Amino acid sequence: MGGGPAGLTAALYTARANLNPTVVEGMQPGGQLTITTEVENFPGFEHGIMGPELIDVMHKQVERFGTRFINGTVTRVELDRRPFGLQIDDELHTCDALIVATGASARLLGVPGENTLMGYGVSACATCDGFFFRDREICVIGGGDSAMEEANFLTKFASKVTLIHRREEFRASKIMLERCQRNPKIHFMLNHAPVEFTGNPEQGGLKSVLLKDMRSGALVDFPCDGAFVAIGHVPNTGLFKGLLDMEDTGYLLVQGRTTYTNIPGVFAAGDVSDHRYRQAISAAGSGCMAAIDAERWLEEQEA
Ligand code: NAP
Repeated sequence: MGGGPAGLTAALYTARANLNPTVVEGMQPGGQLTITTEVENFPGFEHGIMGPELIDVMHKQVERFGTRFINGTVTRVELDRRPFGLQIDDELHTCDALIVATGASARLLGVPGENTLMGYGVSACATCDGFFFRDREICVIGGGDSAMEEANFLTKFASKVTLIHRREEFRASKIMLERCQRNPKIHFMLNHAPVEFTGNPEQGGLKSVLLKDMRSGALVDFPCDGAFVAIGHVPNTGLFKGLLDMEDTGYLLVQGRTTYTNIPGVFAAGDVSDHRYRQAISAAGSGCMAAIDAERWLEEQEA
Protein backbone atom coordinates (compact mmCIF):
# COMPACT_ATOMS: atom_id res chain seq x y z
CA MET A 1 0.00 0.00 0.00
CA GLY A 2 1.51 3.31 -1.12
CA GLY A 3 3.14 4.59 -4.30
CA GLY A 4 5.83 6.87 -2.86
CA PRO A 5 9.54 6.03 -2.71
CA ALA A 6 8.99 3.42 0.05
CA GLY A 7 6.21 1.55 -1.77
CA LEU A 8 7.91 1.73 -5.16
CA THR A 9 11.25 0.49 -3.81
CA ALA A 10 9.48 -2.35 -1.99
CA ALA A 11 7.78 -3.20 -5.31
CA LEU A 12 11.09 -3.08 -7.19
CA TYR A 13 12.72 -5.57 -4.84
CA THR A 14 9.72 -7.89 -4.50
CA ALA A 15 9.15 -7.90 -8.27
CA ARG A 16 12.78 -8.85 -8.86
CA ALA A 17 12.31 -11.61 -6.27
CA ASN A 18 9.36 -12.97 -8.31
CA LEU A 19 6.87 -12.23 -5.53
CA ASN A 20 4.30 -10.78 -7.93
CA PRO A 21 3.69 -7.44 -6.15
CA THR A 22 0.74 -5.13 -6.61
CA VAL A 23 1.08 -1.46 -5.64
CA VAL A 24 -2.07 0.28 -4.47
CA GLU A 25 -1.25 3.90 -5.17
CA GLY A 26 -3.82 5.63 -2.99
CA MET A 27 -5.27 9.12 -3.14
CA GLN A 28 -2.00 10.82 -4.04
CA PRO A 29 -0.08 8.49 -6.39
CA GLY A 30 3.63 9.12 -5.91
CA GLY A 31 3.13 10.58 -2.45
CA GLN A 32 4.70 13.74 -1.12
CA LEU A 33 7.40 13.89 -3.82
CA THR A 34 4.72 14.74 -6.35
CA ILE A 35 3.97 17.98 -4.53
CA THR A 36 7.53 19.04 -3.97
CA THR A 37 9.84 20.96 -6.26
CA GLU A 38 13.50 20.25 -6.72
CA VAL A 39 15.05 17.35 -4.83
CA GLU A 40 18.74 18.07 -4.37
CA ASN A 41 19.59 15.37 -1.86
CA PHE A 42 18.59 12.10 -3.54
CA PRO A 43 21.91 10.42 -4.38
CA GLY A 44 22.54 9.71 -8.04
CA PHE A 45 21.23 13.01 -9.40
CA GLU A 46 24.23 15.30 -9.56
CA HIS A 47 22.21 18.37 -10.53
CA GLY A 48 19.05 17.49 -8.58
CA ILE A 49 15.76 16.29 -10.01
CA MET A 50 12.18 17.52 -9.75
CA GLY A 51 10.10 15.45 -7.25
CA PRO A 52 7.43 14.35 -9.77
CA GLU A 53 10.13 13.35 -12.27
CA LEU A 54 11.90 11.25 -9.65
CA ILE A 55 8.66 9.38 -8.96
CA ASP A 56 8.05 8.97 -12.69
CA VAL A 57 11.49 7.37 -13.18
CA MET A 58 10.96 5.07 -10.16
CA HIS A 59 7.54 4.09 -11.49
CA LYS A 60 8.94 3.16 -14.91
CA GLN A 61 11.80 1.22 -13.33
CA VAL A 62 9.33 -0.76 -11.20
CA GLU A 63 6.96 -1.41 -14.14
CA ARG A 64 9.85 -2.94 -16.08
CA PHE A 65 9.83 -5.89 -13.68
CA GLY A 66 6.13 -6.59 -14.02
CA THR A 67 4.59 -4.88 -10.98
CA ARG A 68 0.83 -4.38 -11.14
CA PHE A 69 -0.55 -0.97 -10.15
CA ILE A 70 -4.01 -0.27 -8.78
CA ASN A 71 -5.10 3.33 -8.94
CA GLY A 72 -7.44 3.28 -5.98
CA THR A 73 -7.73 3.74 -2.25
CA VAL A 74 -7.95 1.00 0.35
CA THR A 75 -10.99 1.64 2.52
CA ARG A 76 -10.75 -1.40 4.84
CA VAL A 77 -8.17 -4.01 5.74
CA GLU A 78 -8.67 -7.54 7.04
CA LEU A 79 -5.54 -8.62 8.83
CA ASP A 80 -6.88 -11.33 11.14
CA ARG A 81 -6.13 -14.18 8.73
CA ARG A 82 -4.10 -14.92 5.65
CA PRO A 83 -4.39 -14.13 2.86
CA PHE A 84 -4.96 -10.56 4.08
CA GLY A 85 -7.89 -8.66 2.57
CA LEU A 86 -7.85 -5.13 1.16
CA GLN A 87 -11.12 -3.48 0.19
CA ILE A 88 -10.55 -1.21 -2.83
CA ASP A 89 -13.71 0.36 -4.23
CA ASP A 90 -16.18 -2.55 -4.59
CA GLU A 91 -13.58 -5.27 -4.72
CA LEU A 92 -11.84 -7.27 -2.02
CA HIS A 93 -8.23 -7.96 -3.03
CA THR A 94 -6.01 -10.42 -1.20
CA CYS A 95 -2.28 -10.74 -0.56
CA ASP A 96 0.03 -13.15 1.29
CA ALA A 97 2.16 -10.35 2.72
CA LEU A 98 1.41 -6.66 3.11
CA ILE A 99 3.86 -3.77 3.09
CA VAL A 100 2.29 -0.62 4.52
CA ALA A 101 3.92 2.43 2.92
CA THR A 102 1.03 4.88 3.16
CA GLY A 103 3.27 7.82 4.13
CA ALA A 104 2.19 10.98 5.84
CA SER A 105 0.05 14.02 4.99
CA ALA A 106 0.37 17.71 5.72
CA ARG A 107 -0.45 18.65 9.32
CA LEU A 108 -2.93 21.49 9.74
CA LEU A 109 -3.16 24.06 12.52
CA GLY A 110 -6.74 23.31 13.52
CA VAL A 111 -7.59 26.98 14.12
CA PRO A 112 -10.88 28.68 13.13
CA GLY A 113 -11.15 29.60 9.44
CA GLU A 114 -8.51 27.12 8.28
CA ASN A 115 -10.93 24.54 6.85
CA THR A 116 -13.45 26.97 5.41
CA LEU A 117 -10.75 29.04 3.68
CA MET A 118 -8.71 26.04 2.46
CA GLY A 119 -8.46 26.60 -1.30
CA TYR A 120 -9.65 30.20 -0.84
CA GLY A 121 -6.33 31.70 0.18
CA VAL A 122 -5.26 29.08 2.70
CA SER A 123 -3.16 26.21 1.34
CA ALA A 124 -0.95 23.37 2.52
CA CYS A 125 0.86 22.93 -0.80
CA ALA A 126 2.97 25.66 -2.36
CA THR A 127 3.73 23.67 -5.50
CA CYS A 128 0.01 23.10 -6.09
CA ASP A 129 -1.22 26.64 -5.37
CA GLY A 130 1.75 29.01 -5.59
CA PHE A 131 0.88 29.94 -9.16
CA PHE A 132 -2.33 31.68 -7.98
CA PHE A 133 -0.37 34.24 -5.95
CA ARG A 134 1.56 36.08 -8.64
CA ASP A 135 2.55 39.56 -7.34
CA ARG A 136 0.61 39.02 -4.13
CA GLU A 137 1.69 39.28 -0.51
CA ILE A 138 1.54 35.97 1.26
CA CYS A 139 2.80 34.21 4.37
CA VAL A 140 4.20 30.78 5.16
CA ILE A 141 3.67 29.30 8.62
CA GLY A 142 6.32 27.03 10.17
CA GLY A 143 9.99 26.87 11.07
CA GLY A 144 11.17 23.57 9.57
CA ASP A 145 12.60 22.60 6.18
CA SER A 146 9.11 22.40 4.66
CA ALA A 147 8.41 26.03 5.56
CA MET A 148 11.79 27.17 4.18
CA GLU A 149 11.32 25.21 0.98
CA GLU A 150 7.82 26.58 0.45
CA ALA A 151 8.82 30.18 1.27
CA ASN A 152 11.70 30.06 -1.15
CA PHE A 153 9.62 28.47 -3.91
CA LEU A 154 6.79 30.99 -3.43
CA THR A 155 9.11 33.93 -4.10
CA LYS A 156 8.91 32.86 -7.77
CA PHE A 157 5.35 34.16 -7.74
CA ALA A 158 4.64 36.38 -4.75
CA SER A 159 5.89 39.94 -4.36
CA LYS A 160 6.54 39.40 -0.64
CA VAL A 161 6.63 36.28 1.52
CA THR A 162 6.50 36.57 5.31
CA LEU A 163 7.65 33.51 7.19
CA ILE A 164 5.72 33.29 10.44
CA HIS A 165 7.20 31.08 13.14
CA ARG A 166 6.18 30.65 16.77
CA ARG A 167 9.75 30.66 18.16
CA GLU A 168 13.14 32.24 17.46
CA GLU A 169 14.96 28.95 16.89
CA PHE A 170 14.38 26.93 13.76
CA ARG A 171 14.14 23.20 13.14
CA ALA A 172 15.13 23.87 9.54
CA SER A 173 18.57 22.85 8.30
CA LYS A 174 21.13 25.65 8.19
CA ILE A 175 21.44 25.63 4.42
CA MET A 176 17.70 26.01 3.84
CA LEU A 177 17.32 28.69 6.52
CA GLU A 178 20.22 30.68 5.12
CA ARG A 179 18.80 30.48 1.62
CA CYS A 180 15.62 32.14 2.91
CA GLN A 181 17.54 34.71 4.95
CA ARG A 182 19.44 35.71 1.82
CA ASN A 183 16.28 36.00 -0.28
CA PRO A 184 15.28 39.71 -0.38
CA LYS A 185 11.60 38.83 -0.91
CA ILE A 186 11.40 36.83 2.34
CA HIS A 187 10.69 38.58 5.65
CA PHE A 188 10.58 36.90 9.04
CA MET A 189 7.97 37.35 11.74
CA LEU A 190 9.15 35.35 14.73
CA ASN A 191 7.49 34.55 18.07
CA HIS A 192 4.02 34.69 16.51
CA ALA A 193 1.51 31.85 16.12
CA PRO A 194 -1.74 31.88 14.08
CA VAL A 195 -4.95 31.69 16.07
CA GLU A 196 -7.46 32.34 13.28
CA PHE A 197 -7.76 32.84 9.51
CA THR A 198 -10.23 35.61 8.68
CA GLY A 199 -12.18 36.14 5.46
CA ASN A 200 -15.08 34.69 3.51
CA PRO A 201 -14.77 32.06 0.74
CA GLU A 202 -17.52 33.85 -1.23
CA GLN A 203 -16.15 37.35 -0.75
CA GLY A 204 -12.54 37.32 -1.90
CA GLY A 205 -11.33 34.54 0.37
CA LEU A 206 -8.62 35.06 2.97
CA LYS A 207 -8.23 38.57 4.34
CA SER A 208 -5.81 38.16 7.21
CA VAL A 209 -4.23 35.85 9.73
CA LEU A 210 -4.84 36.67 13.34
CA LEU A 211 -1.57 36.10 15.21
CA LYS A 212 -0.73 35.80 18.86
CA ASP A 213 2.50 37.38 20.02
CA MET A 214 4.01 34.50 22.02
CA ARG A 215 5.89 36.85 24.34
CA SER A 216 3.24 39.44 25.21
CA GLY A 217 0.08 37.45 24.41
CA ALA A 218 -1.18 40.40 22.29
CA LEU A 219 -3.22 39.68 19.15
CA VAL A 220 -1.98 41.07 15.84
CA ASP A 221 -4.03 41.18 12.64
CA PHE A 222 -1.76 40.31 9.72
CA PRO A 223 -3.41 41.11 6.34
CA CYS A 224 -2.32 38.86 3.45
CA ASP A 225 -3.66 37.36 0.21
CA GLY A 226 -2.46 33.84 0.86
CA ALA A 227 -1.31 31.71 3.79
CA PHE A 228 0.63 28.47 3.36
CA VAL A 229 0.62 26.09 6.31
CA ALA A 230 3.90 24.13 6.44
CA ILE A 231 4.09 22.71 9.96
CA GLY A 232 4.99 19.08 9.39
CA HIS A 233 3.05 15.92 8.75
CA VAL A 234 0.80 13.24 10.25
CA PRO A 235 1.12 9.56 9.33
CA ASN A 236 -1.65 7.97 7.24
CA THR A 237 -2.50 5.16 9.63
CA GLY A 238 -6.22 5.68 10.32
CA LEU A 239 -7.11 2.33 8.67
CA PHE A 240 -4.85 0.45 11.06
CA LYS A 241 -6.11 1.85 14.39
CA GLY A 242 -6.73 -1.05 16.76
CA LEU A 243 -5.00 -3.48 14.37
CA LEU A 244 -1.37 -2.44 14.20
CA ASP A 245 0.64 -1.15 17.15
CA MET A 246 1.36 2.55 16.81
CA GLU A 247 2.77 5.44 18.80
CA ASP A 248 0.44 8.01 20.35
CA THR A 249 1.22 10.21 17.35
CA GLY A 250 -0.03 7.49 14.97
CA TYR A 251 3.34 6.36 13.57
CA LEU A 252 3.43 2.56 13.16
CA LEU A 253 5.72 0.70 15.54
CA VAL A 254 8.21 -1.76 14.07
CA GLN A 255 10.30 -4.38 15.83
CA GLY A 256 13.88 -3.31 16.44
CA ARG A 257 15.74 -2.38 13.30
CA THR A 258 13.36 -4.37 11.08
CA THR A 259 10.12 -3.46 9.29
CA TYR A 260 8.06 -6.14 11.13
CA THR A 261 4.85 -4.84 12.70
CA ASN A 262 3.00 -6.71 15.47
CA ILE A 263 1.11 -8.78 12.85
CA PRO A 264 3.26 -11.45 11.19
CA GLY A 265 3.29 -10.85 7.43
CA VAL A 266 2.55 -7.12 7.72
CA PHE A 267 5.52 -4.80 7.31
CA ALA A 268 5.84 -1.01 7.53
CA ALA A 269 8.11 1.18 5.41
CA GLY A 270 8.73 4.88 4.87
CA ASP A 271 7.23 7.88 6.63
CA VAL A 272 4.34 5.84 8.03
CA SER A 273 6.73 4.43 10.62
CA ASP A 274 9.41 7.13 10.64
CA HIS A 275 8.95 10.39 12.51
CA ARG A 276 12.68 10.91 12.79
CA TYR A 277 14.26 10.98 9.31
CA ARG A 278 11.36 11.40 6.85
CA GLN A 279 13.53 11.69 3.75
CA ALA A 280 12.83 10.27 0.30
CA ILE A 281 16.09 8.32 0.47
CA SER A 282 15.39 6.87 3.93
CA ALA A 283 11.86 5.94 2.81
CA ALA A 284 13.29 4.17 -0.24
CA GLY A 285 15.83 2.40 1.99
CA SER A 286 13.15 1.12 4.35
CA GLY A 287 11.06 0.01 1.34
CA CYS A 288 14.00 -2.19 0.36
CA MET A 289 14.23 -3.52 3.93
CA ALA A 290 10.49 -4.30 4.00
CA ALA A 291 10.76 -6.20 0.71
CA ILE A 292 13.64 -8.31 2.03
CA ASP A 293 11.80 -8.89 5.34
CA ALA A 294 8.66 -9.94 3.45
CA GLU A 295 10.59 -12.23 1.12
CA ARG A 296 12.33 -14.02 4.00
CA TRP A 297 9.13 -14.24 6.01
CA LEU A 298 7.25 -15.78 3.05
CA GLU A 299 10.07 -18.29 2.57
CA GLU A 300 9.81 -19.26 6.25
CA GLN A 301 6.05 -19.82 5.86
CA GLU A 302 6.59 -22.13 2.91
CA ALA A 303 9.28 -24.06 4.77
P1 NAP B 1 9.22 19.81 11.16
O1 NAP B 1 10.70 19.73 11.00
O2 NAP B 1 8.56 18.97 12.18
O3 NAP B 1 8.87 21.35 11.42
C1 NAP B 1 7.55 21.74 11.70
C2 NAP B 1 7.55 23.22 12.05
O4 NAP B 1 6.20 23.66 12.22
C3 NAP B 1 8.30 23.53 13.33
O5 NAP B 1 9.06 24.69 13.16
C4 NAP B 1 7.18 23.72 14.34
O6 NAP B 1 7.49 24.69 15.33
C5 NAP B 1 6.06 24.28 13.48
N1 NAP B 1 4.76 23.93 14.05
C6 NAP B 1 4.26 22.70 14.35
N2 NAP B 1 3.03 22.77 14.84
C7 NAP B 1 2.72 24.10 14.88
C8 NAP B 1 1.58 24.82 15.31
N3 NAP B 1 0.50 24.20 15.79
N4 NAP B 1 1.61 26.17 15.22
C9 NAP B 1 2.71 26.80 14.71
N5 NAP B 1 3.81 26.17 14.30
C10 NAP B 1 3.82 24.83 14.38
O7 NAP B 1 8.46 19.45 9.78
P2 NAP B 1 8.90 19.71 8.27
O8 NAP B 1 9.40 21.06 8.07
O9 NAP B 1 7.75 19.24 7.47
O10 NAP B 1 10.12 18.70 8.05
C11 NAP B 1 9.93 17.29 8.30
C12 NAP B 1 11.14 16.49 7.80
O11 NAP B 1 11.18 16.53 6.38
C13 NAP B 1 12.47 17.00 8.30
O12 NAP B 1 13.29 15.90 8.56
C14 NAP B 1 13.00 17.79 7.14
O13 NAP B 1 14.42 17.83 7.11
C15 NAP B 1 12.44 17.00 5.96
N6 NAP B 1 12.30 17.90 4.79
C16 NAP B 1 13.38 18.02 3.96
C17 NAP B 1 13.32 18.86 2.86
C18 NAP B 1 14.52 18.96 1.97
O14 NAP B 1 15.60 18.57 2.37
N7 NAP B 1 14.38 19.46 0.75
C19 NAP B 1 12.16 19.60 2.61
C20 NAP B 1 11.07 19.47 3.48
C21 NAP B 1 11.16 18.63 4.58
P3 NAP B 1 8.47 24.33 16.55
O15 NAP B 1 9.85 24.31 15.95
O16 NAP B 1 8.25 25.44 17.51
O17 NAP B 1 8.04 23.00 17.07
